[in-house]
Amino acid sequence: MTVTSKLISRAVFLGAPGAGKGTQAKELCVGYEILHISTGDMLREEVSRGSQLGLRARQYMDAGKLVPDDVMIGMVAARIDRPDATKAWILDGFPRTLPQAESLDRTLDAAGQGLSHVYFFQVPEEVLVQRLTSRWTCSGCGAIWNSMFKPPRQAGTCDLCGGQLSQRSDDRPEAVSERLSEYGSQTEPLLGYYRDRGVLVEVDASRHLKEVQQSLIEVLSNESETT
Ligand code: AMP
Repeated sequence: MTVTSKLISRAVFLGAPGAGKGTQAKELCVGYEILHISTGDMLREEVSRGSQLGLRARQYMDAGKLVPDDVMIGMVAARIDRPDATKAWILDGFPRTLPQAESLDRTLDAAGQGLSHVYFFQVPEEVLVQRLTSRWTCSGCGAIWNSMFKPPRQAGTCDLCGGQLSQRSDDRPEAVSERLSEYGSQTEPLLGYYRDRGVLVEVDASRHLKEVQQSLIEVLSNESETT
C-alpha cells in the first residue's frame, strides 16, 4: 500500500495527552518523509538548552499546564515559515486552544494554504492515565517506549540507539491529572471547530499501536483514491 506525502500535506494530530499522537507521527513521518512538527518536543529542546523561552515554558509544563498562547503562536508561526515546512508536515500537539487554531488558520490563509485534515485520536480517560504513567522516552533519540504496551528489549535502554530511557517530569500522576483537565477545558472544544470545517477524521486510538498505525494508513490511502 503506498501513501504519498501529498495526502497529509498539512495535517494536525489532535487528542488528549497519551493518545499516541507523537508515537504515530514519529513513525509515519520517517516512513513517508513528512516533516514532524511537535510543539512538545520543541519546548523540551528549549528547556534543555536553557533558553529564555525554555525557562518560561518549563514552569507551565512541569505543572501540567498549557504554555501561554502568545509563546506558542509565535513559535509555530516561525516554524511553519521555515523553508523545510513547504513540504508535507504533521503538526503534533498544536493547536491546543481556540486562539491557537484561529491563528493557525490565519497563518495558513496568508500563505494561500489550508489544513488537509485534522486526525482526532480517541482514547478513554482510564487508558490515557495508564499509558502516560508507564511511558518512557529515550534521552538520545527521543523514541517513545511504554513498559506495558511497547517495552524495550532491555528495561531502561533504547532499542534504537542504546540511549538511556527516562520518565518525563510531566508524566507524574499530579501533572497527568492537570494535563487531562486542561485538555478537557481548552482543547476538546477544537473538535467542534474542525468538525464544522469538514476536516475532522476520527481514529479509534485505544487499540494497539500497530493497529492504529494500520488504520491511519488505510484512512490516508482511501482519501488518496477520492482526491
Ligand atoms: P506534549 O509533548 O505535546 O504532551 O507537550 C508537553 C507540554 O508542552 C504540554 O503539557 C504543555 O505544557 C506544553 N505544550 C505543548 N504544546 C502546547 C500547545 N500547543 N499549547 C500550550 N502548551 C503546549
